[in-house]
Amino acid sequence: MSNGKNIEVDCLSCAVTSGLAEPEGGTIIETEYFHAHQDVAYPIKGLIILASKRHIKCLDELTEEEKIDYINLLTKIRKAQRTVLNIEYVYYFYNEDTTHHFHTWMVPRYEWMYEFGRSVESVRPILLHSRNHLNSEGNSKEVLLAAAELTKELNGK
Ligand SMILES: [Zn+2]
Repeated sequence: MSNGKNIEVDCLSCAVTSGLAEPEGGTIIETEYFHAHQDVAYPIKGLIILASKRHIKCLDELTEEEKIDYINLLTKIRKAQRTVLNIEYVYYFYNEDTTHHFHTWMVPRYEWMYEFGRSVESVRPILLHSRNHLNSEGNSKEVLLAAAELTKELNGK
């Protein structure tokens, strides 16, 4: 972990959603069924991971309650990205053959990203670019500040 602790777990999503591993930037919002945090592996403001608390892989494993909670939370976070970070568009990614468990990436689009193209094929190069070229201390601070602002917006603090 970024805080220097070594945590060995079979599933990172279980570790984060259960509170065993604290993600840098903290919990952005959580409900009975879901947990959201900033993905700090890639220093992009407002890049949020929304993970289920149950260790499931596929969308059709969600219960009725989880389905409602999921779409409500996804929408809430999306709205906060717009309000707080002025994010006009977001890409959503979710793969069922994950090595962890059910989690959706909410990837904001910023102007600089369009040089990498549009749609799904642009995303990997964008993530790599952010990790390799945007990993300055200043930018990392901005990312954490954005996470704090989203947390405040979403929790009414
Ligand atoms: Zn898990």
